[in-house]
Amino acid sequence: MAWEIVIGLETHAQLSTESKMFSGASTAFGAPPNVQASAVDIALPGVLPVANRGAVERALRFGLAVGAQINRRSTFARKNYFYPDLPKGYQISQYDLPLVLGGSLAFETSEGPVTIAITRAHLEEDTARLVHRRLDDGRDVSLVDYNRSGTPLMEIVTDPVVRTAEQARRYAEELRLLLVTIGASDAALENGQMRVEANVSLRRPGAAAFGTRVEVKNMNSFRSVERAVAFEIERQAKALDAGEPLIQETRGWDDDRGVT
Ligand code: ADP
Ligand code: MG
Repeated sequence: MAWEIVIGLETHAQLSTESKMFSGASTAFGAPPNVQASAVDIALPGVLPVANRGAVERALRFGLAVGAQINRRSTFARKNYFYPDLPKGYQISQYDLPLVLGGSLAFETSEGPVTIAITRAHLEEDTARLVHRRLDDGRDVSLVDYNRSGTPLMEIVTDPVVRTAEQARRYAEELRLLLVTIGASDAALENGQMRVEANVSLRRPGAAAFGTRVEVKNMNSFRSVERAVAFEIERQAKALDAGEPLIQETRGWDDDRGVT
């Protein structure tokens, strides 16, 4: 085997609370645009976030279910960036003191049982939704729906210990089953309640350092998680075999064309 496969998975799960992470606005699906955007969600001056107890409890439930360490002291941080989907100019997330540290998820694969170490799980808020559209008069516009702003998310990060495309799919399936079973999230991939991103890199077996990693997004089914990771492994192996350096980048999965 010429290359060792190194994969780490990052999953965002929308927590199944009725209200948002830091405001009382509803999270119900299917409302007309911008009717579920409170003063907190659109960041009017002077508003203050209040953490949703139900979201914290769901994250703790997840931590207990995967045998993690629960941090008794946990903090929120500001992740600063400027984009129309983020009216505050920063996302409230957790950085150095997340709620959940460590833990693991065990499952069966066609090659036997596998246990994947979880690095951390933290709470954060979702952004607004941008819709890019061409109007009848030919103008290209970007529309912003703030209903999604502030929706509670839990981000679950694994160690870079996933070794095959099948393991990546099985991890995602098992994680969904766990989230649904403990009542933390409805976790439907097809409507974005659970979003899986795969960091994929290759290295020579026995090498101390990791290779250059590529982050793959836009997988809307378990099958596409497996296909996208398998494609990316192949693509990287071909490039490295040909002596072409990889660049650290984010690639989207195109399910119709079967390419990243
Ligand atoms: P970021 O903050 O950019 O998201 P992290 O260090 O938190 O980066 O890593 C994100 C994910 O990528 C984790 O699941 C981690 O295990 C994985 N990862 C980190 N380095 C590599 C690598 N070289 N190859 C594959 N996965 C990696
Ligand atoms: Mg990350």
